[in-house]
Amino acid sequence: MKKILVTGGTGFLGSNLCRRLIKEENQVICLDNNYTGSLNNVEDIIQNPYFTFIEHDVTQPLNLNLKIDQIYNLACPASPPAYQGMHSIETTKTCVLGALNMLELAYKNKATILQTSTSEIYGEPLVHPQPETYRGNVNPIGIRACYDEGKRCAESLFFDYHRHKGVDIKVIRIFNTYGPGMDPKDGRVISNFICQALKGEDITIYGTGEQTRSFCYVDDLIDVMILMMNSEKGFTGPVNTGNPGEFTMKELAEKVLTLIKTSSKIVYCDLPKDDPTQRRPDISLAREKLGWQPKIPLDEGLIKTIAYFRKKLGIQ
Ligand code: UDP
Repeated sequence: MKKILVTGGTGFLGSNLCRRLIKEENQVICLDNNYTGSLNNVEDIIQNPYFTFIEHDVTQPLNLNLKIDQIYNLACPASPPAYQGMHSIETTKTCVLGALNMLELAYKNKATILQTSTSEIYGEPLVHPQPETYRGNVNPIGIRACYDEGKRCAESLFFDYHRHKGVDIKVIRIFNTYGPGMDPKDGRVISNFICQALKGEDITIYGTGEQTRSFCYVDDLIDVMILMMNSEKGFTGPVNTGNPGEFTMKELAEKVLTLIKTSSKIVYCDLPKDDPTQRRPDISLAREKLGWQPKIPLDEGLIKTIAYFRKKLGIQ
């Protein structure tokens, strides 16, 4: 049985990961300050003897009085409305100081540490689809920079801890992910469109709706996170993790409208600043090194996610 620390463990991905790790009979220590996470997301496992919750902000150093084997570093708000604005400085601190504190902990424990980096490190990509070798096109002073540059700096820290202190690191770059466990108020496109359609509200497309994203169902992502964590020693990544299926936001809105019977109409709103035009992962490396590729196509994942939101919002 492994002792595994999950930072950001009460968030959307974190709670799904904790649940899976417990199922696989690991002892899980879940860390979160519950800024965007919530104990509601782990209410089904909170009493489980293999699960411990610690309220903690990763910007502060952490001393644990037990030896841990693995750390999954997920802590950071990931939705643009949550990480921008008033919270942008906290976002940078969470990315950078959080990485630093968790790397120190990994060093002391001789633990393997996995960083959940992001497709955001590619910024507004000039190469399409994006392979890991692409170095990105980020606006360093824009409203997304707190997250994008924070995550870039975290990658840099990971590789320096690996080079200079021998820490066993694993880095994945997560593309848009969705599924049960998302917060209805999260502000991201899939949760917004589904909740709007279920409530009969306007479906808000930002900009022309011609921008694209690639959406990975959460179970596929949890699979690859665990595969990467347990991959051969010395394989650090970075590895793109996402579903290469690429859709415009208009296509996504139309899909949601086909799957939910609703009176909702599409409305067009302002495009947020620095919103990337296109996103699609090249997942050749994940296929080759981890034998992984996503199994759940968007339509199937949307149906599962709609069922989750129906229950969550109490809408028949
Ligand atoms: N978006 C949209 N309507 C919404 C929320 C988002 O059209 O209600 C767009 C957003 O402008 C972006 C895409 O959907 O182009 C994905 O946004 P999201 O916040 O989900 O993730 P991002 O990839 O931007 O981090």
